[in-house]
Amino acid sequence: MPLLKNKNEDFLKLSNLFRTAKQPIIIPHENPDGDAIGSALALYNIFLQLGTQATVLSPNNFPKFLKWMPGANDVVIANRDLDKAKDIISNSDLIIFVDFNEISRMAAISTIIEINKAPIILFDHHPEPITSSEILFHNIKASSTAEVVYEALIKSEFKSLINQQVAECIYVGIMTDTGSFNFNSSQPNTYKIVSHLLNIGINKDEIFDKIYNNFSFDRMRLLGYMLNKKTLVLPELKTAYISLSKEELKEYNHTTGDTEGFVNYPLSIEGIKISAIFIERKNYIKISLRSKGDFYINQIASEFFNGGGHKNAAGGDYKGEMNDAIEIFINAISQRKNEIE
Ligand code: 5GP
Ligand code: MN
Repeated sequence: MPLLKNKNEDFLKLSNLFRTAKQPIIIPHENPDGDAIGSALALYNIFLQLGTQATVLSPNNFPKFLKWMPGANDVVIANRDLDKAKDIISNSDLIIFVDFNEISRMAAISTIIEINKAPIILFDHHPEPITSSEILFHNIKASSTAEVVYEALIKSEFKSLINQQVAECIYVGIMTDTGSFNFNSSQPNTYKIVSHLLNIGINKDEIFDKIYNNFSFDRMRLLGYMLNKKTLVLPELKTAYISLSKEELKEYNHTTGDTEGFVNYPLSIEGIKISAIFIERKNYIKISLRSKGDFYINQIASEFFNGGGHKNAAGGDYKGEMNDAIEIFINAISQRKNEIE
């Protein structure tokens, strides 16, 4: 079953826009994960083969475990040099958004993106996509944005350009957004795609190793500390939550991406259906939320934490004290106790 309901003319338009663009930019969301960077770099590597130097413009830095990816060294980090980001955006003739559904997810870029009215193409799998784009490639049922990108490439004229580099990037997106095929991955189509990527020549075991077996010892120690000392369980709410302060992160020499995936650990405790992590950043508390089954954790993210996401994986932030954020979370879950399975 194909994922994309787009008409033929959308794929033709995609082909034309990709072929004619001279300075395309590809923008993932802030704190980009494997799917955002994978989708962005897949497209970057398509442009390379078309003879076009595209720019992946990330709102902020991305984790070290993604830096081996083909094209990762060329990613421009917008919050390091906003003037450069402005220049790149001003001169662009095609803008591509990947893996987000709200302009605000581009952080600093969201305030400058409007300086350019170039056509926008959006690839995404979040609910309620941005509709102002020239073409929208979207399906909420997709395992990942990478899967959406794959299908758009297959249906446009670029199927033959899915080389090993592009295939690796797409695989990283699918693998990371499904927790290595443990969730959001029950559609047979996902495995047909993986089969094709394997035929192209990706080494899936090596990719897994580069992503998941590449952490610093400090990160491992931080994980141990978190599990041992900072995970609290509320059995009556089938909920567990974690908090980490700036000082704690500093003690373990925290770097970008170190806490990625931490929020998933409590879900492997028997009976736990909801998990949250509260991480103190410079001016706010970053919140990641997870749920199992039909509990819409994205509603908690949007209603209380200025965020959003998917039914079972969402996030947001809170401008205030850690304890207040936690209290708001617990109250919100208590109010919806009857929705927990
Ligand atoms: P994570 O918890 O891994 O950072 O994010 C999980 C999902 O939650 C992401 O795929 C994204 O959809 C969503 N998400 C995380 N943070 C935010 C945020 O600040 N705003 C919005 N709208 N969505 C977020
Ligand atoms: Mn995604």
